[in-house]
Amino acid sequence: MEHELPQDRNATRCIDTLVKSDKLRLLVQQSYLGLFVSLAVSILLCWVLWDYTDTTILLNWLGIMFLSTLTRLYLYLVHFRNQSDAQATLQHARPYVAALIASTLIWGIGALFIMPQGSLLGQVFTMFILIGMAGGVLATYSAHRSTAIAGMLSILLPSTLWLYSQPDKLHLGMAIGATIFIVITLRGAKILSDAMHRNFHLGYELQQAYEEADTLSKTDALTGISNRRSFFECGAQIISYCERNGLPLSTIVMDVDHFKCINDTHGHHFGDITLRQIGRILEAEFRKSDVIGRLGGEEFAILLPHTTLEEAQELAEKLRHTIAATPIIVQEKQMSITVSIGVASGAYDLGTLLPRADAAMYQAKTEGRNRTVIAGQFKEAPTAA
Ligand code: GH3
Ligand code: MG
Ligand code: MG
Repeated sequence: MEHELPQDRNATRCIDTLVKSDKLRLLVQQSYLGLFVSLAVSILLCWVLWDYTDTTILLNWLGIMFLSTLTRLYLYLVHFRNQSDAQATLQHARPYVAALIASTLIWGIGALFIMPQGSLLGQVFTMFILIGMAGGVLATYSAHRSTAIAGMLSILLPSTLWLYSQPDKLHLGMAIGATIFIVITLRGAKILSDAMHRNFHLGYELQQAYEEADTLSKTDALTGISNRRSFFECGAQIISYCERNGLPLSTIVMDVDHFKCINDTHGHHFGDITLRQIGRILEAEFRKSDVIGRLGGEEFAILLPHTTLEEAQELAEKLRHTIAATPIIVQEKQMSITVSIGVASGAYDLGTLLPRADAAMYQAKTEGRNRTVIAGQFKEAPTAA
């Protein structure tokens, strides 16, 4: 049986929250127009029923509808201003959804009061409007299934039950028709909202997979720092920034001494752990704005923006000492390692800087390793321990 990793669970939870907030955001956006449509249709209904229903009831209902529209408009604006992230959307959409359901209840329960008792035509017209409103609710709220279903039922159920309670065949026929509509639309709501849910999910899963693949393509799998390709890509940006602003720029190339011997003595696994430890040291020693990369094998490079050759030399020496002072320990095996370093400056181009630093690093090797050499001068840096 496959076990879900905690990070996978977190990612799924994160996607679930994003999808939830997206659905709510869509619901709010979709229902905005419905705000005015609902008010306009309620005015139309009152106008048609004016001669059949008590006008006080109609005016009261219209008043309540008007207040509900104002509340929804206010909550819409609050939600609109607070959608900075998924959590904020979720938090502010809740009262809006509650107001939406309240307004559908005003329709559904209100219809029982305004339904003209003495006019069958008036009742048919009211049912016609209610079914239209319920269909509209379903179409516009479909992003959020529970709201769509609750809204549709709130509008239609009270009048449908009232129709069932009437003694004659005509009312029963209308009640059955409304029930069929409810059943069909409930099924439609499920299919539509499931499809939307899958779509939203798939979108985020694709985005996540793309981001993971992008990170993997830029990262060295063993050390977790930038790989060669990413080093050159990030380096090019930093270099053009330094050149444009006339800032000093230096580069360091570092190679582990006798690494083959480390592998041969303690095994390849020990060698891998050594490289990983070097990656960690590099990340700890340099600034976030510096570009650190594994160029290949046991060779690393660091691009240092806003750094003079002298400063780079100091940093290289500090790095060399730190690596020498940090023994690699794997189980009972322990070994101290040294590195040879080349430092170069004076060009805004990796094609020039890297070969220079590389040549200086090879010079450090020929001079006995465990030292730093400055390109151009090929002069040994002081205090090689
Ligand atoms: P020098 O001091 O002259 O640099 O000697 P060296 O032994 O470090 O250099 P050489 O180029 O002879 O050997 C490099 C070794 O690094 C050989 C190769 O097997 C090993 N190597 C390259 N990549 C990896 C890796 O990812 N993991 C491990 N464990 N070893 C690696
Ligand atoms: Mg080496
Ligand atoms: Mg090498």
